[in-house]
Amino acid sequence: MVKINENFLKMQKNYLFIEIAKRVTAFSQAHPEADIIRMGIGDVTMPIAPVAVEAMKKAADELGVKETFRGYEDSGAGYDFLREAVAGYYQSFGADVKADEVRINDGAKSDCGNIVDIFGDGNTILITDPAYPVYVDTNLMSGRKVIYADSNEQNGFAAMPDESVDADIIYLCSPNNPTGSVYTKDQLKAWVDYAVKRGSVIIFDAAYEAFVSEEDLPRSIFQIEGARKCAIEMCSLSKTAGFTGVRCGYTVIPSELTVKASDGSEVSLAQLWNRREGSKFNGVSYPVQRAAEAIFTPEGQEQIRVNIDYYRENAKIISSTLDEMGIYYTGGKNSPYIWLKCPGGMGSWEFFDKLLSEANVVGTPGAGFGKNGEGFFRLTAFGDRERTKEAMERFKALKF
Ligand code: PLP
Repeated sequence: MVKINENFLKMQKNYLFIEIAKRVTAFSQAHPEADIIRMGIGDVTMPIAPVAVEAMKKAADELGVKETFRGYEDSGAGYDFLREAVAGYYQSFGADVKADEVRINDGAKSDCGNIVDIFGDGNTILITDPAYPVYVDTNLMSGRKVIYADSNEQNGFAAMPDESVDADIIYLCSPNNPTGSVYTKDQLKAWVDYAVKRGSVIIFDAAYEAFVSEEDLPRSIFQIEGARKCAIEMCSLSKTAGFTGVRCGYTVIPSELTVKASDGSEVSLAQLWNRREGSKFNGVSYPVQRAAEAIFTPEGQEQIRVNIDYYRENAKIISSTLDEMGIYYTGGKNSPYIWLKCPGGMGSWEFFDKLLSEANVVGTPGAGFGKNGEGFFRLTAFGDRERTKEAMERFKALKF
């Protein structure tokens, strides 16, 4: 008889956004007149850049002509034109990444989840708490031991390594979802040193790197000395260029990153990953890769900057409101997320219900991202300007 993967039964039943949708639906059915403003889900709202639209159309035309038609891409790792564009982008801010270390994918979520395939089940996984749920879920699905590094008010929601804790694989995300906190170069160096010392691997999620506005803050772990020996980086054009519906991201595994196998041989993680991808992934569509390439041109960079600045201004509107109200928060400056402490000592879901029923504003309860998220709440800057302003006016009118 068939046996299921029982690890799934140990996971939380209700995914965070399903519960939010359930509560919002129930509220709007009971109050059909309510004008609800959604600041919960982290999807973008601005259209993709005109250069990307043009590139996709041109690529579609090429596919419709025998002479320029393309079928499977040979390696499935991405066309050279895009891998080179990504490497050039990294080099533009001082991160040492080469084109053949980049693999193109259909967004960071897939690789964040699939990367577990190349690591043994006996590894101890360290995840900062709160965290983007994919890291925890995909390790629990494969039955791994997960331990947590606390991000909290004391450390500004930027957990640091604890030398007394042994971890084999470490997930870091900066700028962070959900907390909006960003590691400094010194802080990331401490994580790199911790990993190199133990022979651990850091999986670094840089999905929000484009929101870093302060020059001194790192956008990539490969700006940190030693990272090429211990880190894998995942990034995405979803939030950078509005590609949540287009689907394109990239993973970087440096050639120096090797791990000792049980027979004593040094194994390249890039080669293991290529082997895994060769069996399970056939690459990203040609028009999408051409659209992504267009984003990395000077014109593309200028066009996406306009959208990112729009979201940044929204973030400023939210954070100024919280400043005015004297509410503690992280994020908002180098991140599209604002992570606030629920006023009046309220719990995350209690505050969610109050905000929904009294201000008709939807946010995301911090408790959905881990134990340290309890008592905190995430708002996103990805919405419309006028709606963001309106939401903040309603927020200010709340009594706690
Ligand atoms: N990593 C983080 C931290 C995210 O917040 C998200 C999406 O919200 C992703 C990765 C995945 O993005 P995508 O699969 O759209 O590239």
